[in-house]
Amino acid sequence: TEPIRIAIVGHGNLGRGVEAAMKHNHDMRLTGIYTRRPPARLKPLNPETPVFAIEELDQHTDRIDVLILCGGSRQDLPQQGPKYATLFNTVDSFDTHARIPDYFSAVDAAAKPNAKTALISAGWDPGMFSINRVLGEALLPNGETHTFWGDGLSQGHSDALRRVPGVAGAVQYTRPVPAAVEQARSGLRLPLTTREKHRRDCFVVLDEGADPEIVRQAIVTMEHYFVDYDTIVNFISAEELARDHSAMPHGGFVIRSGHTSENITQTIEYSLKLESNPEFTSSILVAYARAVHRLHAMGQYGAKTVFDVPPGLLSVKSAEQLRADYL
Ligand code: NAP
Repeated sequence: TEPIRIAIVGHGNLGRGVEAAMKHNHDMRLTGIYTRRPPARLKPLNPETPVFAIEELDQHTDRIDVLILCGGSRQDLPQQGPKYATLFNTVDSFDTHARIPDYFSAVDAAAKPNAKTALISAGWDPGMFSINRVLGEALLPNGETHTFWGDGLSQGHSDALRRVPGVAGAVQYTRPVPAAVEQARSGLRLPLTTREKHRRDCFVVLDEGADPEIVRQAIVTMEHYFVDYDTIVNFISAEELARDHSAMPHGGFVIRSGHTSENITQTIEYSLKLESNPEFTSSILVAYARAVHRLHAMGQYGAKTVFDVPPGLLSVKSAEQLRADYL
């Protein structure tokens, strides 16, 4: 059978991750990378992969089976998602949780009348964690679900640190509090506050002459980002920031604990330890691109989420093989 023809829109961390994932998915072929920047300036992992200006996409509808949208959730996807779902089957990782219902409607309205299939909000959260929250609740209706994130680098919180006056550079790690994780696993079902569940560790490089105490206060009192957490601010040099903090690790747990009888506790746990958040997210996007290609072939058009995709469609193996090997 012909390989599935994949193209990438946007060459940031996720775009590069999709390129890397192509090596491990032999039923697919990368036909191009599309960017808003001058194409000649991009360095694809495989120098033979063609790079195009994004405007050329409209003329390339017959070359691409699934377009993987790797733009940012804040600025890029709200515009690119609906726009490209009129012309292509798409997969994206839109992760602004509160806006997902509106985003779904906009993409659905674009895809359905054009007989395209558009999978939104794939990745690990939203994505794999969402699936595990739904499974946990369906299997143990009498119970409680807790999601923990980390240890991991939070892009949003790192950006917030960099906006503080006096900060020259910074990263922020989200860390689950071990006692809270243990409590969630134990099935005790006591409520956990925001502060009890996660801690925030900041590594900050100061501007020359900036007062560390003023910067620390500005950080730990910041609304929405830090004030509701125990936040530790560590001051480091620019060299240390570059040397020790340029990887993008992440991960976390979804824990469902519940009772099937009065004294019978059951616990389900899904856990991720990621050395590279974007490379893992991209691996998920690629598996969902395979599923989208198959859903489209079955005539299932419109916007979809991970809840709508049977797991067998993600696998390179056939349904017969899966039944024989894994059931
Ligand atoms: P990113 O590196 O900032 O890239 C976003 C876009 O910015 C790219 O598509 C690229 O578009 C442009 N860009 C990249 N590098 C650039 C540079 N040096 N100069 C100018 N423009 C540049 O973002 P990312 O890390 O790939 O993440 C993308 C989104 O994925 C995030 O917003 C997040 O919401 C989502 N995400 C979701 C999950 C999940 O679990 N669901 C996990 C991780 C991330 P052009 O090539 O067109 O310029």
